[in-house]
Amino acid sequence: MTSKTNEYVLKDANLGKIAVQNVENAYFCENRTAGMEYSNIRIGNGYDVHALKEGLPMWLCGIQIESETGFVAHSDGDVAIHALCDALLGAASLGDIGLHFPDNDDRWKGIDSKLLLKEVMRLVRAKGYELGNTDITIALQAPKLRPYIDSMRSTLAEVIGTDADNISVKATTTERLGFVGRKEGCEVWATVLITKV
Ligand code: MG
Repeated sequence: MTSKTNEYVLKDANLGKIAVQNVENAYFCENRTAGMEYSNIRIGNGYDVHALKEGLPMWLCGIQIESETGFVAHSDGDVAIHALCDALLGAASLGDIGLHFPDNDDRWKGIDSKLLLKEVMRLVRAKGYELGNTDITIALQAPKLRPYIDSMRSTLAEVIGTDADNISVKATTTERLGFVGRKEGCEVWATVLITKV
């Protein structure tokens, strides 16, 4: 049985280990900071919403989804690609998707959003950056997107010209809450990391 004193000794010993660990971590972080050019890494986030309407096609991450409803939009309505484009443009301080592809310009009417993503990547690369990775979260009540996730990742990877391992796509419902839960629309958040090449 551990005595009170021993408990304190044990706690002190553990705290000591943690303290040593923290010092080692701090030293490690310091060295990493010294050896890493943080100015070469940039982060961006993107957010987009599109309303759902019966009889329209539903495109997400470049894949057509089997659904009775689709997105109301000037382009093909691929809300996931739009969020990703905004994240990429944000990371490179290149404005937003509305600036580059205004929705009152007939050139972008009904356009395949994969072409917008290709153009955004061209702009990001022209500024000297390459995609590190992206993490995308799609909030949609229905249909379930699980069967499409792998195709979404490989499609985006192909359009961008990167490995599918650099692309994460996650889907969630909102437990029937809010406009997503009422099946009135879809929300997407995208986070990207870009690195100077
Ligand atoms: Mg949009």
